[in-house]
Amino acid sequence: MPADARLQPMTWFDSLAASLIPLVPKAIMRKLSLRYIAGEHREDALRRGAQLASSGYRVTYDQLGEAVTTQEEVDAATKENLRLLQDLADEKLELNISVKPTQMGLNLGEQVCIDSVSTILEKAQSLGAFVRFEMEESETVDGTLRVFAALRKKFGASVGIVIQSMLLRTEEDAKQLVAVDAPLNVRLVKGIYVEPAEIAHQDCNVINQAYLRILRILLEGGAFVGVATHDEVLVEGLQTLLQENPSWSEQCEVQMLLGVREELRQDLRRQDLPVRVYVPYGEAWYRYVVRRLKKNPKLARYAMMGMFKKQEDFT
Ligand SMILES: Cc1cc2nc3c(=O)[nH]c(=O)nc-3n(C[C@H](O)[C@H](O)[C@H](O)COP(=O)(O)OP(=O)(O)OC[C@H]3O[C@@H](n4cnc5c(N)ncnc54)[C@H](O)[C@@H]3O)c2cc1C
Repeated sequence: MPADARLQPMTWFDSLAASLIPLVPKAIMRKLSLRYIAGEHREDALRRGAQLASSGYRVTYDQLGEAVTTQEEVDAATKENLRLLQDLADEKLELNISVKPTQMGLNLGEQVCIDSVSTILEKAQSLGAFVRFEMEESETVDGTLRVFAALRKKFGASVGIVIQSMLLRTEEDAKQLVAVDAPLNVRLVKGIYVEPAEIAHQDCNVINQAYLRILRILLEGGAFVGVATHDEVLVEGLQTLLQENPSWSEQCEVQMLLGVREELRQDLRRQDLPVRVYVPYGEAWYRYVVRRLKKNPKLARYAMMGMFKKQEDFT
């Protein structure tokens, strides 16, 4: 694949390829996953995180997994996060992790989720670590915000949240989050899930305009903001806000996913903007990689073409 393939315009074939991604054999998906995940094991993530840190990046680590249906799975995810925190401390790496609500038991009940994330946060607080509570499909937003409110009350600055600019409700959510008199750390994203027009903006420009309005609300409200994007328009919007009020630079960092727009990431570092890279790992990589490929039609096309190649030709 040419290095700049992702920058070429999307064709109808690319869109078709993206919609056919679920048909691609897992072996091919596994190879494509290498771009987006550190590996299946915690050690892979620690190794990748150490490399990124030595190049001047901040890092957040994420054990992949979502939508669990049993308490055993919640306990296993909790244990893995506790081990992750301990390993990060032992290796003297940055103590910053991300967890998904439905991986931590949100679908089994809000109290289940509060309990599991509290266990992680107790350890996090003892080590001086930070835990980001992420955001998933729209049906989970109310529950996620309620669980976050409970965790924020108990653990303060050790816990953060994610909000999605594509949802119509998010501006109001942002105002409510800054209105609470407590430290606030928000990752602002566009939102990766497909949501209906009744509840979500569908137009890219409108999503971007909402993003920049919400970013202003958060900065003016005193929040620390992880400006999570690979979109130059939003990065320029951030830079305009920083020119307007240079002190906001203390209140933000850019956040980017492993394997996405690395040239932009390097550019931002050269401009001295702090950048945090999201380093996911684990056996549950499949759903994560499908979502990433759907966002990248050129790679989706590559995956579809890979189906018709001999396995050993596919590198
Ligand atoms: C650190 C981080 C954490 C996130 N956490 C969440 C979360 O908790 N909940 C949630 O709903 N969403 C999350 N997201 C995903 C987010 O919602 C967006 O879907 C994603 O960031 C793509 O949007 P964008 O702002 O980069 O803009 P886009 O317009 O989608 O992308 C801008 C440009 O980046 C490039 N690009 C984007 N994606 C890819 C890709 N996969 N491969 C190659 N190039 C690509 C393309 O060139 C594209 O033109 C997270 C994103 C980041 C960076």
